[in-house]
Amino acid sequence: MKKRVFSGIQPSGNLHIGNYLGALKSWVRIQKDYESIYGIVDLHAITMYQEPSELQSKIEETAALFLACGIDPQESTIMVQSTVPAHVELGWMLTCVTPVGWLERMTQYKAKAEEQETVGDGLLQYPVLMAADILIYQAAIVPVGDDQSQHLELTRDIAHRFNTLYGETFVVPDTHLPAVGARIMGLDEPDKKMSKSATGTGHAIGLLDPIDQIRKKIMRATTDSKPAVDFADLGAGVENLLNIFQAFSEWSDEQVRNHFQGSRYGDLKKQVAEMVISKIEPIQKRYHEIRSEPGYLSSILKQGAERVAPIANSTVELAKRKMGLYTSTR
Ligand code: ATP
Ligand code: MG
Repeated sequence: MKKRVFSGIQPSGNLHIGNYLGALKSWVRIQKDYESIYGIVDLHAITMYQEPSELQSKIEETAALFLACGIDPQESTIMVQSTVPAHVELGWMLTCVTPVGWLERMTQYKAKAEEQETVGDGLLQYPVLMAADILIYQAAIVPVGDDQSQHLELTRDIAHRFNTLYGETFVVPDTHLPAVGARIMGLDEPDKKMSKSATGTGHAIGLLDPIDQIRKKIMRATTDSKPAVDFADLGAGVENLLNIFQAFSEWSDEQVRNHFQGSRYGDLKKQVAEMVISKIEPIQKRYHEIRSEPGYLSSILKQGAERVAPIANSTVELAKRKMGLYTSTR
């Protein structure tokens, strides 16, 4: 039997090349080797305020982008988190075995909480629901970007703790990071990871950005005061551009080094822009085809929920029995 994979993306804004290189690209690559479940995790998105009609349309946009990037609905299941309520049920059970101190240590919580006047409880609880998303499918592998490594460690800790308290229940999952592209930085601030929720116009390259805008954003990316690429002393902005090039092109370290050593920044940027555009253009074309097929997307999402709900429900039943909660199948 194939091992199971789960991963998700929040429909909290415009998907960008970091989401693609850190997560989606790996999902596509491994989907044939695993039983893959990929979620549009809308309940995570609402940990920060989302305009309701905007959220609804971002859910559909995200689903269409999964398909456009190459997720094959015959091989993988695409589901919307809130259509399988068992995630929330398990989330509560896991909340009850998770010390608050574990959550307060999360760097993402600390960073996002810092920007808020009042911090919603959901922002603190978020990683527990994420643990539920993964453990509910008994996933063995979770392909994510580097920023999620800490949440995956927490997921493992929660699974261990539950298994220790109540007996073997959950598969303890492994994190899967891509070799290149696990942490794409903002083009405007190369010391911060590229994020959907960041506001700067030159920060992220959206998968659906107009092509001329992609070119402009890359040409304006922050570099440093040196004139040309020097691998002995790379500034963060230049390193990020090289990383983006390498992740899209799949060139080896050596190829990238030989090709770009001594290149002037202007020339580097032009080549990065052309490489990114050559990979994003076909995704955009497929995206528009998918959006123009009436009913296709909703049928994929309906089928997704129907496929995974029985797996999720049976894990919740198992966890309930282990905890001594009342179940009809006792
Ligand atoms: P938000 O700002 O709303 O948190 P995000 O850009 O961080 O958005 P998420 O939906 O939180 O995106 O993450 C989806 C997936 O994309 C995760 O696997 C995450 O690790 C990955 N990811 C996010 N940002 C990057 C990045 N800059 N580089 C590589 N992978 C990333
Ligand atoms: Mg994030």
